[in-house]
Amino acid sequence: MPRKKLIAANWKMYKTPSEAQAFMGWLLPQVHGHTRDEIVVCPPFTDLAVVIEAARDTNVSVGAQDCHWEKQGAFTGEVSAAMLADIGCTHVIIGHSERRQMFGDTDEIVNRKLKAALAAGLTPIVCVGELQEDRDGGHTEAVLERHCSNAFAGITPEQALKMTIAYEPVWAIGTGRTATPELAAEAHRLVRKRTVHAFGQAVADSLRILYGGSVKPDNAKALLSDPDIDGALVGGASLESASFAAIVKR
Ligand code: PEP
Repeated sequence: MPRKKLIAANWKMYKTPSEAQAFMGWLLPQVHGHTRDEIVVCPPFTDLAVVIEAARDTNVSVGAQDCHWEKQGAFTGEVSAAMLADIGCTHVIIGHSERRQMFGDTDEIVNRKLKAALAAGLTPIVCVGELQEDRDGGHTEAVLERHCSNAFAGITPEQALKMTIAYEPVWAIGTGRTATPELAAEAHRLVRKRTVHAFGQAVADSLRILYGGSVKPDNAKALLSDPDIDGALVGGASLESASFAAIVKR
C-alpha cells in the first residue's frame, strides 16, 4: 500500500499567538478538503493553544517542536510529552538538528524523548541527517546509521509503527540548498535500511520518511514525486500560508 504523504510545518521560534491565529485563518481555507496528504503544523509552545483551537475539526493536525523526556518534575522551562498530548497535540518533532547543535540534544537524549513521546501517545517526527563535513568526508551512511540506531534503541516494532522519521541534511536546512530528489531518495533508502534492521521489513515498509531542507513551492513537486520520499518537513517556506499551501497542493 502506498504511504500517505505528510507535510509538516516547523515554524521554529517564529510567530506570536495572534500571528499564529491569523496564519491559520488564511491556511485553513487554502487546504480545505485536501485529503491526499496529511498536514501538520508545529508552532512554538506559546502558539499551541490557539493553533489547536483553530485546527479543531479540520484536516490540519498540530505538533510541538520538542518535549522533555520526563512526565513532570523540577525541570525549569521544559514541557513534557504528556502535557502536549493533554492539550491536543498529536505530533512532536524530536532531535531537530538545531536542538542537536545548539541545545545539547545528544543521541541518548533523542532516544529518551522519543520514548516519552511514544508513551504519551504522540506521533514523533524523529530528525536525522548529516553535516556538510560528514557528506564531504563520505560519512553520510555512518551518521545516518548512528542517528537511527541510537534513536531507535529499546523501541519495539509495535511502537515504531507510530513513528515518522525526517531525513534532514543539515547543510540544506535554512540555506536554500536543497538536496536533489535523487540524493534525498538515496539517503531515504539508507534510513529505511536501518529501520528494516531495527524493526523488520513489514514495519519499515509502513514507516514514513520525510525530507527536510529548503523545501519550497518550486522544488516540492519534484521531491515529493519520488516514491521513497514520504513527505516534507518545511521550515522557512511554512511561515507564509500561501507558500506552505502551495507545497501541500504542489
Ligand atoms: C527545518 O527546520 O526542519 C527545515 C527543513 O528548515 P528549512 O525548510 O528552512 O530548510
